[in-house]
Order: sequence, then C-alpha cells, then structure tokens
Amino acid sequence: MSAPIVLSATFQSGPDDNHYLRQGSSDTIQAFEDAVGELEGGAALAFGSGMAAMAAVVEGQQSGAVAVVPSSGYSGCVSLFDEQQRMGRMQVRPVDISDTAAVVAALPGADLLWLESVTNPLMGVADLAELIGAAHDVGAVVCVDSTFSTPLVLRPLEHGADVVMHSATKYLSGHSDLLMGVLITRSAPLGAALKLRRDLTGAMPGALEAFLALRGLRTLAVRMQRAQANAMELATRLAAHPAVTAVRFPGLASDPGHERASRLHEGYGAMIAFEVAGSAQHAEQVCQSVRLISHATSLGGVESLIERRARYAVDAAHGTPPTLLRLSVGIEHVEDIWADLAQALARAAALSDVVP
Ligand SMILES: *Cc1c(COP(=O)(O)O)cnc(C)c1O
Repeated sequence: MSAPIVLSATFQSGPDDNHYLRQGSSDTIQAFEDAVGELEGGAALAFGSGMAAMAAVVEGQQSGAVAVVPSSGYSGCVSLFDEQQRMGRMQVRPVDISDTAAVVAALPGADLLWLESVTNPLMGVADLAELIGAAHDVGAVVCVDSTFSTPLVLRPLEHGADVVMHSATKYLSGHSDLLMGVLITRSAPLGAALKLRRDLTGAMPGALEAFLALRGLRTLAVRMQRAQANAMELATRLAAHPAVTAVRFPGLASDPGHERASRLHEGYGAMIAFEVAGSAQHAEQVCQSVRLISHATSLGGVESLIERRARYAVDAAHGTPPTLLRLSVGIEHVEDIWADLAQALARAAALSDVVP
C-alpha cells in the first residue's frame, strides 16, 4: 500500500537511459508528484522546499522581466522579489492583490503575475478568475501560491492559472516534519522549463521527505475538515472577544474577502489572523502564555501554532500590524484550543500598565 523509500541517487544504465536522482529519477518522489498532480488537475514537480519551487518560477524569468507581485505576502516571496529588483534582474511592481483594479492597472507590460490564494499573513483574497483573465490579456504568466488553500479548497488551474505552487512543508504533508515544495502546471513546455530549472539548480527533495509527504497527504481531507471547522468556530469567538480588536478570516460574513472566498473557494481554510487590544507587547504576551498552542513559526500541521509576524522586519515593513497574531489552527479539540486562547488573552489583558 505504500510507495517504497528509494534512497538510491544513481541507477545502473540501461541500453539507452542513464538515471540520476537530480534529474528526477525516484519512484518515491514520482508517487508524490502523481498524487499532487491528480489533486490539482495537472502535472506536478516536487522540490526540496517551497522556496526552491518559488525560485524555479522566479529565477526562470528572462533578465529584465516585469513582475506584478503582492505588496504584502509571504515573507520569503516578498524578499525573493525584492532581491531580484535589487540585483537589477527584474522590474517588480508590488500591489495589493485583493484590489482588482490596482492589479489590472499594474499589468500592462508584465511577464509574470504572482498571486497568493489567500495572502500571508493579512488574509486578503484575490479575485482569481478576474486577475488571471486580465494577466493573460497582456500575455503574462500567472503563478498562484496556494499553500493556504490546499487543492481541496481551491484548484487554481481550473481558473486558468498557468502554475500552482505549494509549500508542501505545510498542509500537504501536515505534520511539521519536513521541507518540500511543489509546482503544478498543465502546460508541457512550461513544465519542461520548470523541470530544467530544478535539474540545473539541484532542487530535488529527498526520498524520505517524499515518503512522509505522501503519508501525510493520505489524511489531508480529514485534517482539513477538522481544522477548518475549528477555525470557523475560533474566528467567531475571537471576533466577540473584548481583548481582540480585529479578526481576519474569510469565513466571517463581515470579512472583506468573504464574498470572493464564498464564490471561488470550497471552504475558508484554517488560518486566522487577529489583532490583540493594546500594543505589540500585549500580542507577544499571548504568544508567551499559550500552553496547548505552540509559539512557533510555520503552519499547516496537525498542531495549532501562533506567531506575531511583525517580529520579522520584512513583515513589519510590508504592512503587518504590530499587534497581529497569525494562528494556524490544528486538529485538537476546539474547546481545548479555545480555553488556551482565552487564558492567554486574559493574561495579555492583565498587562494593563505596559510601556507603550
Ligand atoms: C512557508 C511558505 C512558503 C515557503 O515554503 P518552505 O517550504 O518553507 O520553503 C511559501 N509560501 C507560503 C504561503 C508559505 O506559507
């Protein structure tokens, strides 16, 4: 029932073949690619991390290419594009990707439109169908980082995206025990170009990672079902909590992304961002006070994780409020998660005299 862990890096030559792991020869990795390809509706290529997958798309652009990118998004993404601009390799146009008119205005002359299905960590929802159509009108390639959504919530290829990217480190593997990335496309030439990037940069994942990711993938549906139900309940309770000033979660009817997510997605995911009353110190106190939830970076595992993203300079510089906490909701019992959040928020609220 399981694909074997093939640890060989080189294979004996046949009459007309010559296999080496870096060129994609591994049954374990191939099995993972087949599974993810079927889920997204295209052909998948696995990478050693989400960043390696992202870099294959970005660094495969011609020198001087114009990219329209999220002004606020995953820190690694924002930093990678900043670096391309700084090195003079790419002309980067940052826009709020939940503002359709702003994206459309930035598109003329663009070669690449980079989107996040739901932005990290501000939870903005892009109008995927509309933006992909507008990008194709100007001849730009569209890549969607769908890490927050998983193929169970959104399948960007069905909306016309050229490439879908996942950090498989997150929901796809789901147990916070490996780094992997994946790109999925329906275009054979694009797939070949991306595979060439992977071959040339040596960005293959390891076989053990692929084995673990396949093992995690088997429970993706039940994990997502539970985590999403937990997230909906927690977001609703947080929105009514006196120590919380704002909740960003597309499942809430009051959320600016609610209408789009209801129309384009099947579910609202399990990531929540919320702002704590007071200062950054109050928000940090919540992170220091949780006992069931872990104070840790990353997301998408079975265990709930919380983090104040503005502790990173790149997030703070790209518009993340200092009091914002990003909560990756796990599959624990919802009452246990809530009890932990409630006691941590009470501890933060008790810090009434902190220096502003
Ligand atoms: C974590 C993450 C990445 C980077 O993935 P790694 O596997 O950590 O390299 C990219 N995009 C998003 C949205 C992420 O959350």
